[in-house]
Amino acid sequence: MRDAGILAAELLDWYDQHARDLPWRVSPADRRAGVQPDPYAVWLSEVMLQQTTVAAVQGYFTRFTELWPTVEALAAAEDARVMGEWAGLGYYARARNLLKCARVVTAELGGRFPDTIERLRALPGIGPYTSAAIAAIAFDRPEAVVDGNVERVMARLHRIEAPLPKAKAELRARAAEMTPLARPGDYAQAVMDLGATVCTARSPACGLCPWRGACRARAAGVASGLPRRMAKPPKPTRWGLAYIGRRADGAWLLERRPDRGLLGGMLGWPGGDWGETAEGLPPVAADWRDIGAEVRHTFTHFHLRLGLRVANLPQHCEPARGEFIAALEPDDLPTVMRKAYDLARAELGGPV
Ligand code: SF4
Repeated sequence: MRDAGILAAELLDWYDQHARDLPWRVSPADRRAGVQPDPYAVWLSEVMLQQTTVAAVQGYFTRFTELWPTVEALAAAEDARVMGEWAGLGYYARARNLLKCARVVTAELGGRFPDTIERLRALPGIGPYTSAAIAAIAFDRPEAVVDGNVERVMARLHRIEAPLPKAKAELRARAAEMTPLARPGDYAQAVMDLGATVCTARSPACGLCPWRGACRARAAGVASGLPRRMAKPPKPTRWGLAYIGRRADGAWLLERRPDRGLLGGMLGWPGGDWGETAEGLPPVAADWRDIGAEVRHTFTHFHLRLGLRVANLPQHCEPARGEFIAALEPDDLPTVMRKAYDLARAELGGPV
């Protein structure tokens, strides 16, 4: 295989012409002209991109940076507002850590993100991948940034046949060996772009690849089969109930979920625990109706099937759980609760 330095230079040439235009990115041309990346934008985008696609994140990123253009502005935001804007990105622990991190950076570090992976790792919500990405992209440090795209490219370029996740350490080592000292931030983004746009999971476009001459998987005709993966156990299904009640004055009965755990700190419809059967007591005595439709939603570790019960509630009632919200903003609900609302609205009315 060609020398790592030559491969890096070939990839950077390709990146200079084909870099994706992303709202948080400083283009290679601007970088050459001396424009520095904003560490706040790099951090925000990387936290949003954890387990979410670039396409899904772009609108959220733009909205967040319009509302909160600096880390200090985000640190001063109300928790509920940030959680509401986050709805739809999933994994609410990330949003809670985002706020915590913004507050630490503002209160303890004068609004400046640290520039080493060790110090970045000490901040809330920043793990090995995100610290490497921020150090490389925002501060041009030669850190190996290894996401799923990079793993795929490394597995193919070096023809690593061991399956994931066992192969992770080897893929990381290969990525580290190849990281150049010149333009490491652009290089990190270039490998990611190559994986996202050329060396794609199902049908790599090897004819367009700057590494086609060196790629061992291509030479062996096994590119689309790599990286191999160990078979995953199937996701279990859980069942639950959601009680969607609306008072005569139009207020909705909602319940704030505990801070810890799934959808922590978010508003949702009252209901029981999610388990092997759909059960849970209503939050208030009323004429609850089964609308005969259910929400299906997939979380990281399980599928959920949520049965729906709706009721028009009397103006004077005292629920055992939850609180009445007069001005419901459906978009502030997490996706699973929003899906339930969309089904129940036909029965109870309410804003779109
Ligand atoms: Fe991926 Fe093909 Fe490039 Fe190899 S030659 S890195 S398989 S796109």
